Amino acid sequence: MENSNAPFWQTKSLQEMSVEEWESLCDGCGRCCLHKLEDDSSGKVYFTDVACHYLDEESCSCPHYLDRQKYVPDCLTINPGWGEKFNWLPTTCAYRLLYEGKALHEWHPLISGDKNSVHLAGISVRGRTYRDNEINEDQLFEHVIKWVE
Ligand code: SF4
Ligand code: SF4
Repeated sequence: MENSNAPFWQTKSLQEMSVEEWESLCDGCGRCCLHKLEDDSSGKVYFTDVACHYLDEESCSCPHYLDRQKYVPDCLTINPGWGEKFNWLPTTCAYRLLYEGKALHEWHPLISGDKNSVHLAGISVRGRTYRDNEINEDQLFEHVIKWVE
């Protein structure tokens, strides 16, 4: 029998969520604002510690979130119908976890009730990034990191 007290992310599909519910799934880690490299032959995605220069390094949020494509045309807009593109997100990302049928982590603000828990748990990119306007593109491979995956 379904638990009527269960939170929305356990009872609704990604498609059924309201805009507010959908937005609240973002834990504010900032990991999706890191540059990635993809191995052409294997398709494997490697995260780097080079972040979009618009990312606020302290809060790990985007100051231009609502009209971010005006600033970065290829900035992502995650949507429920993304399918395999969810694999582009870090494995800790709530959207990817739910897409894969997994549970949110205990440090997720929706569970902890504290926006800071993502930083305290060492999941966010706070204090760990370089800005992309200070790095040459051909140096990106030197910035591949393991702490995201
Ligand atoms: S990786 Fe996912 S949870 Fe983290 S900031 Fe990006 S969308 Fe939000
Ligand atoms: S424009 Fe904003 S959301 Fe997009 S990558 Fe840059 S900081 Fe992140």
